[in-house]
Amino acid sequence: MNKNFIEIAFIGGSGLYEIDGLENITEKDIDTPFGKPSDKVIIGTINGIVCAFLSRHGKGHILNPSEINQRANIYALRSLGINQIVSFTASGSLKEEIKPKDFVIPDQIFDKTKNRPSTFFEKGIVVHVSMSQPFCEEIRDIIHQSISELGINHHHYGTYVCIEGPQFSTKVESEVNRQAGFSIVGMTLSQEAKLAREAEICYANISLITDYDVWKEAEEVTNNSVVKTVIMNIKNSEKIIKNLIKKLSLREAKCTCKDSLKAALMTSPDKVISSPYYKNVSLLIDKYYKNNYS
Ligand SMILES: [Zn+2]
Repeated sequence: MNKNFIEIAFIGGSGLYEIDGLENITEKDIDTPFGKPSDKVIIGTINGIVCAFLSRHGKGHILNPSEINQRANIYALRSLGINQIVSFTASGSLKEEIKPKDFVIPDQIFDKTKNRPSTFFEKGIVVHVSMSQPFCEEIRDIIHQSISELGINHHHYGTYVCIEGPQFSTKVESEVNRQAGFSIVGMTLSQEAKLAREAEICYANISLITDYDVWKEAEEVTNNSVVKTVIMNIKNSEKIIKNLIKKLSLREAKCTCKDSLKAALMTSPDKVISSPYYKNVSLLIDKYYKNNYS
């Protein structure tokens, strides 16, 4: 293990604004070609393993889901050399059997957001990455193993439907999402997963279920119920992080996440290199161009 290498980053959502037990902390104020991330990136160690933490909504929860600069968040983590991310979110359940306080490790996403920047590549550089499996399956399996060892109720599969928000769903919207077969609902994962894939980072999510959205009579979601459930489960999230970090630091990746751009770059090399936009994404695509074209 390289002492200075950041083995993994955690992105924290509603209620998870820091990691208890993080030692040797430094904070990095990072600028990216896409602007500033949600907050400073906190770097520290857990059991001697170096990791990073980023609060998705910023300190004091100041960014609504549509305002989060997801491109800057993922780019900032990538610029630190990070190649695996586990994100935490608070999500609502759309299925009876997925109960509040359970954890879900989603394997699919359905994106219903509108007009959020969802790609690093534009203005003369066109890239189509595969999203058929939106999460890193290797990391999903390690999370499943970790949570199973801890004996915490969880679901290994589920489809996360990402809504724009910031309002919660109407009853009809919630019912339609149920009829479509979606498992859980939230407002933040789509762009994170897409951008992590474009940045060739292994990415997976742990959703803490806070409520039954609004479809279930007498159990309607409120802001208070969401935060209360997350805070009650902070201890479990921290236990998961501690168990996970060791496994992830020992992982020898065999997945294809690190080569996501290989067959995805559409624009001809001469056009890419001559694009004024190239400098914004050179960190992400240099390895495909530098040796051949510089
Ligand atoms: Zn992977």
